[in-house]
Amino acid sequence: MSPELFRAEIVIDLAAIRHNVGLLAERAAGAATMAVVKADGYGHGAVPVAKAALDAGATSLGACSLAEGLALREAGITAPVFTWLDAPGVDFAPGVAADIDLSASSTHELARIAEAAQRVGKRARVHLKIDTGLSRSGSPAYAWPALVKAAAAEPDVEVVAVWSHLACADEPGHPSIDQQAQRFQAAYDIACEAGLNPLRHIANSAATLTRPDLHFDLVRPGIAVYGLNPVPQREDLRPAMTFRSQVVLTKRIEAGESVSYGQTWTAERDTNLALVPAGYADGVPRTLSGRMDVWLAGKRRPVAGRVCMDQLVVDCGDDEPEVGAEVVLFGAGGLGEPTAREWADTIGTIDYEIVTGMYRPRVRRRYE
Ligand code: PLP
Repeated sequence: MSPELFRAEIVIDLAAIRHNVGLLAERAAGAATMAVVKADGYGHGAVPVAKAALDAGATSLGACSLAEGLALREAGITAPVFTWLDAPGVDFAPGVAADIDLSASSTHELARIAEAAQRVGKRARVHLKIDTGLSRSGSPAYAWPALVKAAAAEPDVEVVAVWSHLACADEPGHPSIDQQAQRFQAAYDIACEAGLNPLRHIANSAATLTRPDLHFDLVRPGIAVYGLNPVPQREDLRPAMTFRSQVVLTKRIEAGESVSYGQTWTAERDTNLALVPAGYADGVPRTLSGRMDVWLAGKRRPVAGRVCMDQLVVDCGDDEPEVGAEVVLFGAGGLGEPTAREWADTIGTIDYEIVTGMYRPRVRRRYE
């Protein structure tokens, strides 16, 4: 497709990804940086982001499912990859064969990994997960000694690390952070007493930025890699994703005419409208109807009426934008354009959900 021919596109600034990973790796100081590229790189494209992150100082990659990890291998990425959550019956053998580090939260999971390793004829690299307070995956404390004992005795498994995940790291000072850190230490001590010598990792982006004492051997930032700041303090992060479209039609309407389904918006005076071929099927939440602006011809301008499946209409007042004019739906915010955070705040979610929701077959993705 020619660069001009698109309805809506996501542009990913790989220099921003490199900048963000460089900053995170520097903040991690003595710890290694695992860039988290699950959910197709939080909607930015796992493979290009992974390559940029590795260029910029990340030494490993984290993904959720084994399929996501294997996709990185299929793209020729040879750096260490860690995956942690799969369907209950998944066969771990392709992961062991592809040198993917795997997580075990229970003796059952450990046994299934060991059985896969035996079939492959290679020891599996396993990170034992302790649940320190999120109550999602991870071994509960009462089952931890048995998991550690089983792992230490399992010849087909090499225990690489003990790991966990924080519940409230994005609220610096939240008491659960220290409580989780204490439980993590206790779990690590039990592993060492069993004769293991594992690495430790617990820090997501927020803890990477605010809790150097929790960096341990490895940090696992996700959202900050993409330039979205999870903590209240200002950080020099650069949002990597811009969502753009173009004006496809303009028209003038008279005062009293309404716009879009339900006629929820009526022009108070004669005005110029610009039609933008991006709607909720392209990732513009319909719940933003009546509450969103776009950046068009050097200004923020309100969207008039409801966001439709394939299109939305911008009220341009006396200005007459040209067909083909760029429309920025959200971007890094530097010009004054809306950001993914602004969308999230408006509709009551987090920017994680906005950007991960942007991987849509109909929306072109381009890298700069
Ligand atoms: N580690 C695990 C296990 C995760 O599930 C995630 C994402 O939720 C991360 C690290 C990265 O977290 P964040 O995107 O908040 O940095």
